[in-house]
Amino acid sequence: MANNVDVSTVARNWRLDGVTVPSPSDVVNEVFASDVLTMEELRQRLSKPVWKSLLATTERGATLDPAIADTVALAMKTWAMEKGATHYTHWFQPLTGLTAEKHDSFVTPTSDGSAISQFSGKELIQGEPDASSLPSGGLRATFEARGYTAWDPTSPAFIMRHSNGATLCIPTAFASWTGEALDNKTPLMRSMECVNTAALRALRLFGDQESQRVVATVGVEQEYFLIDEEFYFRRPDLVMSGRTLFGAQPPKGQELEDHYFGSIPDRVLTFMTDAEHQLYALGIPVKTRHNEVAPGQFEIAPIFEQANIAADHQQLLMQVFKNTARKYGMVCLLHEKPFAGVNGSGKHVNWSMSTDTGNNLLEPGDTPQDNMQFLFFCAAMVKAVDDHQDLLRTCVASASNDHRLGANEAPPAIMSMFLGEQLTDIFDRILSGRGGSSKKAGFLGLGTQVLPALPQHTGDRNRTSPFAFTGNKFEFRAVGSSQSVSFPITVLNVIATDAINDLSHRVEKRLKKGQALETALADVVKEVYAAHKRILFNGDGYSAEWHREAAERGLLALRTAIDAIETLVSSKNTDLFSSNNVLSARELEARQEVMFEQYFKTVNIEGETTEWIAQTQILPSAMRSLREMTAIGVSLPAIDRATAQLAEVTNELALAIEALRAQNNELGGDTVHSKAHHMLASVLPAMQRVRKAADSLERLAAYDHWPLPSYREMLFVK
Ligand code: ADP
Ligand code: MG
Repeated sequence: MANNVDVSTVARNWRLDGVTVPSPSDVVNEVFASDVLTMEELRQRLSKPVWKSLLATTERGATLDPAIADTVALAMKTWAMEKGATHYTHWFQPLTGLTAEKHDSFVTPTSDGSAISQFSGKELIQGEPDASSLPSGGLRATFEARGYTAWDPTSPAFIMRHSNGATLCIPTAFASWTGEALDNKTPLMRSMECVNTAALRALRLFGDQESQRVVATVGVEQEYFLIDEEFYFRRPDLVMSGRTLFGAQPPKGQELEDHYFGSIPDRVLTFMTDAEHQLYALGIPVKTRHNEVAPGQFEIAPIFEQANIAADHQQLLMQVFKNTARKYGMVCLLHEKPFAGVNGSGKHVNWSMSTDTGNNLLEPGDTPQDNMQFLFFCAAMVKAVDDHQDLLRTCVASASNDHRLGANEAPPAIMSMFLGEQLTDIFDRILSGRGGSSKKAGFLGLGTQVLPALPQHTGDRNRTSPFAFTGNKFEFRAVGSSQSVSFPITVLNVIATDAINDLSHRVEKRLKKGQALETALADVVKEVYAAHKRILFNGDGYSAEWHREAAERGLLALRTAIDAIETLVSSKNTDLFSSNNVLSARELEARQEVMFEQYFKTVNIEGETTEWIAQTQILPSAMRSLREMTAIGVSLPAIDRATAQLAEVTNELALAIEALRAQNNELGGDTVHSKAHHMLASVLPAMQRVRKAADSLERLAAYDHWPLPSYREMLFVK
């Protein structure tokens, strides 16, 4: 049986059966956040004292007063039922990187045929999902499998809609009965606290008495692929593992770059409009959309928000995209590398810090005072990235991201930082004590130097850098497209905290000795920059020279996810996370355990799927082709050579399958650690060998026998 797809009809097969497509002209204002229980909505539904008490929690991080819970719960339920919700769920983010839900009905039928309506403060504040199959990294033995979900009042509740109903989703944290974090939200929330404290301490040094709270801000750019679902369902590898485990390179790749920023196909645009409409209703401020570099690849970027809310919204965005694509006969692939040899997908995390008075701490200012502050925070980030290269690499480490980092236009696995020419120049001048050249612009007196006004939103970009300053924020580009952004943001917050505290401490010490603030700051910035400037790299991060140079500079090159995950629980990292109350040593170890487990499971599924497809689909097709070729009964040199070549590669495929089977059968020991290592050292290379033979066969065997849709079809038939 051939692959059974009539390729020419695929692109025409989709219809909008029963789908109402919202028009882009629907007023965004009307739709925006219509499915979100905003504080404004609550203000109208709650008494003033209750609302004020809740506001103290959501805006200033005050502890929630349990006495108001029943009242808030009632208001929530009424609102949700008015919106058509029948169920509610505590919505949480277990360590799988996905989200989890356990739905409960608002109404419980009673034996006399009526129904009682129940949703109390208790049910709002705490839930108890039977979550024994979610990963805990050993924090929870199965006999004490209970985990608790706890309401996060800082992230608004929202309505999730499906074809015939709706559910009230209450963002929650998820913890073990001993209070240890089992999710991605808890440490993120804790890290919001430590970065707040550290930044306020620094701001006080600059004489800022006004700011009361500093939050990390995050805007995420999400890349993804869309392919026709007919192709998808004929690719067991995509269905099982999210990426193609086979596929010869198409004759036309992305070399023409004709897709990048090209016009978006109508079907895709309709999908985008629909998805954006839903995201607006959920209060997610989506803004830009465009084609990406690879054929079939696209990007969406919501406007930045407070980091923990941006993280919740990111999870929702992925879910909405996956669901909505199906309405249009497509599948949204979020995997970091769905197609080998073609650009992978990332998720750029744009990060900064902002005061409640509206100041972006990474925005170069107009006044010397502002600029001094800006340089202080920038210098802190230079130190943070250099000191914690390992953590930045580890928080993006996964089996899937390994296929992307360091390949085709993705940042390398080596962490470095790009500041742009002007900013680097300014730091260099501070270091050397040279004066500035541009006197006409605003200037910053640091010691004896006169510095030019700092560039506002510099134009220069370096797409190859994993960590780049882009005018008024840092852009962390190594994050994978399928990943939850919560842990990467947690790491950014924690390493920023660490460095800011260190710099503040040094300045405070100098002030105590009687140094003037300006001199103290100049000295500290200079000192820190000198010690950490090795992390700066403005050149081509994809080049081989950079790998050599990075080694000379002593930068870490943690090539694989396994190399990176090994470093997570070093004493440096354990101290860092525990001293800032973000993760205890035990919680950090649990995270490492889960990362090894996820790695092992991912590659194990891929290994089994590769063996299965190769044995039951590809090998038989190759054999069929071979039989037909040998059956023609004519012997001429070129025909004989073609037949012999097919026979040879088919034989190599059979051998490679045997070798892979042997590795698959061996799990690599009893611990997730040794299993993960077995996957990296033995299963991945064995899979690679199978793939190599299979991909050669794809170009040798008869097309009508080939069992899988090809790259050529999947990427170009739209
Ligand atoms: P590019 O593709 O050039 O990197 P985009 O405009 O697509 O730029 O994305 C930039 C992202 O950075 C957007 O999500 C934007 O909201 C976000 N961003 C802008 N300012 C900040 C900030 N202060 N903090 C966090 N993110 C920000
Ligand atoms: Mg970007």
